[in-house]
Amino acid sequence: MTTTQSGVQTSGAPGTAASQRATAIAAIPSYQLINTFLNNSLYARRKFEPTACDFGFGNPHQMPQDEYVTALRDVLTPRNNEWFAYKTNLPEAQDAAAASLQRLLDVPFEPEHIYLSTGGFTAIALALKAVTDPGDEVIYSLPPWFCYEPILVESGLTPVKVKINTETFDLDLDAIGAAITPRTRAVIVNSPNNPTGRIYPPELLVKLAALLEDASARNGRRIHLVSDEAYNRIVYDGLRFHSPAEFYPFTLLAYSYGKTHLAPGERIGYLALPPTMPDRDQLQAVIQALQLATGWVYPNATLQYALPQLETFSIDVGRLQRKRDVMVDALAGMGYKAKRSEGTFYLYIESPVPDDLAFTERLAAKDVFVFPGIMFETPGFFRISLTANEDMIERSLPIFRTALKEAASAG
Ligand code: PMP
Repeated sequence: MTTTQSGVQTSGAPGTAASQRATAIAAIPSYQLINTFLNNSLYARRKFEPTACDFGFGNPHQMPQDEYVTALRDVLTPRNNEWFAYKTNLPEAQDAAAASLQRLLDVPFEPEHIYLSTGGFTAIALALKAVTDPGDEVIYSLPPWFCYEPILVESGLTPVKVKINTETFDLDLDAIGAAITPRTRAVIVNSPNNPTGRIYPPELLVKLAALLEDASARNGRRIHLVSDEAYNRIVYDGLRFHSPAEFYPFTLLAYSYGKTHLAPGERIGYLALPPTMPDRDQLQAVIQALQLATGWVYPNATLQYALPQLETFSIDVGRLQRKRDVMVDALAGMGYKAKRSEGTFYLYIESPVPDDLAFTERLAAKDVFVFPGIMFETPGFFRISLTANEDMIERSLPIFRTALKEAASAG
């Protein structure tokens, strides 16, 4: 604690008003890297140049679908005096989301246990706050989505990181088991996975459920599973997605429409509790309170009105799959170790040299922008976002080829 000239007491750095927790968030290395990529990098400066091939963030590089624009336009015309009034969880949105989850997962999700949120971000943050106390530990696997750590630190939680099996891209259940302590309160699982593109098979999810059941009994306190399913509709090769919620009743399911429609700037998603979760009625009161107390984090009224319509279509997943195939076939043909992702927007590819940052900088110098493995705390890889358009893919291939040759001769 320090005292300023005006006599006001502040915590954090002397002379500033920043709290220690906010300061800690700002100091997280992966957060700083994202910030650099967003604001102060060759990528930030050149991504709109006509020669740029943008495989960075999962942003659209094609015009939005007509259905999407029509769905939003339709809800702009007010139909009653309260059209733009404060809204909480709109029943028509909850009904449509529950029906759609029932179709996807064959689990009878109930509308009253769908909590609307401003995307997957808020759903994950709400889930964690609902089942943890500051000081608790939350386990997740590396490489992760790079925003888990800021979200956890903001809630006063301690991230506990374990590595996946980098050969199979599967969760390492032994490592998760070994990381559980009496303070463990939640485990985050992300399938389909960003960045690996892996969809965890049911056999693995069954074993994970058994592990968490045993550990909860041992701890005398429930360990909840937060299932980050932002990409559960972006699945390739006719594969069937399975949610941890099918196997572990204490699962809080976080979803975002931002991926399904490739429109992440329009913020809508939800947190869903499965009907099998015994403590869901207690959690309901808590989650509703958090939706208000964390800053009225409901999506805008118009997006909630549009949700039933948004549930009727998605982006062209076949087109994404074709881009995946072009990219994987071409890169593998050149000599890259490139696995075919099973879902999501991403490919996670072995860097031909151990210093993945240096390799991505080599590509960036030629206007091909990918993210280094260090951004996902897993050096030796780089991530490609398939949201780049076909023209970018075509232009990038000779550059990927040259970069590989240069890396080989330099190494
Ligand atoms: N989880 C994962 C794995 C993601 O990749 C993202 C977005 N990149 C989110 C959650 C958050 O989604 P949204 O921005 O739509 O809230």
